[in-house]
Amino acid sequence: MSILEDARALAESGPVCDACLGRAFAERSFGLTNAERGKSLRVAAALDDDEPYEAVDTEDCWVCEGACAEFDDWAERCAEAIEDVEVETYQVGTRAPPLVEENELLLREGAGLPEDAGELFKSEFNREVGKRVGRLTGTEVDFTRPDVQFLLDIEADTVEAQLNSAFVYGRYRKLARDIPQTEWPCRECDGSGYKGKEPCDYCGGSGYLYEDSVEGFVAPVVTDVMDGVDAKFHGAGREDVDALMLGTGRPFVVEIMEPRRRTVDVEQLEGDINAMADGEIEVEGLRLATYDMVERVKKLDASKEYRAAVEFDDDVTDAELAAALDELTGATIEQYTPNRVDHRRASITRTRHVYDATGDLEDPRHATVEIHGEGGLYIKELVSGDEGRTNPSLAGILDTGAVVTALDVIAVEGEDEPFEDDAFFKD
Ligand SMILES: [Zn+2]
Ligand SMILES: [Zn+2]
Repeated sequence: MSILEDARALAESGPVCDACLGRAFAERSFGLTNAERGKSLRVAAALDDDEPYEAVDTEDCWVCEGACAEFDDWAERCAEAIEDVEVETYQVGTRAPPLVEENELLLREGAGLPEDAGELFKSEFNREVGKRVGRLTGTEVDFTRPDVQFLLDIEADTVEAQLNSAFVYGRYRKLARDIPQTEWPCRECDGSGYKGKEPCDYCGGSGYLYEDSVEGFVAPVVTDVMDGVDAKFHGAGREDVDALMLGTGRPFVVEIMEPRRRTVDVEQLEGDINAMADGEIEVEGLRLATYDMVERVKKLDASKEYRAAVEFDDDVTDAELAAALDELTGATIEQYTPNRVDHRRASITRTRHVYDATGDLEDPRHATVEIHGEGGLYIKELVSGDEGRTNPSLAGILDTGAVVTALDVIAVEGEDEPFEDDAFFKD
């Protein structure tokens, strides 16, 4: 059958609006709307038959029941839903009424067309409303990860605007000990602060084992500035609670849920966080980041540099220490899962490299050593030998007991490339 014969067959089923008629031929002639296709076919068929042209009022359409006349209304409702919200990109999704989906099948079936001829009602709705939303709000459509996702439920007559998270990247230094990276709920009361009706003794009723955390200093300030509802803190690994994080700091991303602001002055934000943290922690290099930065921060292979205060059981000379550190430099270390590590993890022997080891004695029993190693190298065990589970070790080479009394991280850097890749930033 020719396209005009197909169009006549569809139009004979009852009043069919231009959009519903044209939608059955949506794959033809790029650059037209379905309503333009439908109207043109109706005109061409009338000319071909030399019959009077009769337009169909969209309100009377038995297929969409008038929904195709409402693109502008829906778009205005979308624009209203984000009136006070800052977004740059959007996407529209439509839940089509089941009856309309059924009518679409009946329409095609009745005209002898394949049931998937053209495109779906909801695809047209997404596109037509989407175009109008873009014009009304001055935003761009984004099919991957838009700032806002509209969900139109035609039957329920509702518009839902879901705001996707915004992300801020930075590096933190932890300048005081006994601060965990993330908030640490009390295990006795599960973070509620209560045991039954009484305040929890274990945490003093705060619900947290530690009063402060890096997350606790950073996340609320960012949440406030971006006017979000909640936040998640993602770190590039974490140091022990009692270790400092110094030097160039540790990369992190703060994810803000449902932010109403996305373009924030990161320098001012940095100042606000640092003022709030009052010297306990510091952040720097804040930048607006993409969603993909979360995974980069969590997964990128990173080497670590540590500074450890070490205490020896026997006197050690400068020459002995220097020789031992020379031996460790460039060495491949075998480490059986340390005793102190979570025993739910499978015990395995892993191999890690020491890139560099240097240090100085304070006195014959005390030294400060700096170790640059592959990610995952256990430093306390590299020093102590962990009762033979780590080989070689500083204690093993010196043939004396050695223990780390204070451990600080001074750098966390990508093994093969820096964390700070422009492809992962929005500014
Ligand atoms: Zn229609
Ligand atoms: Zn508690």
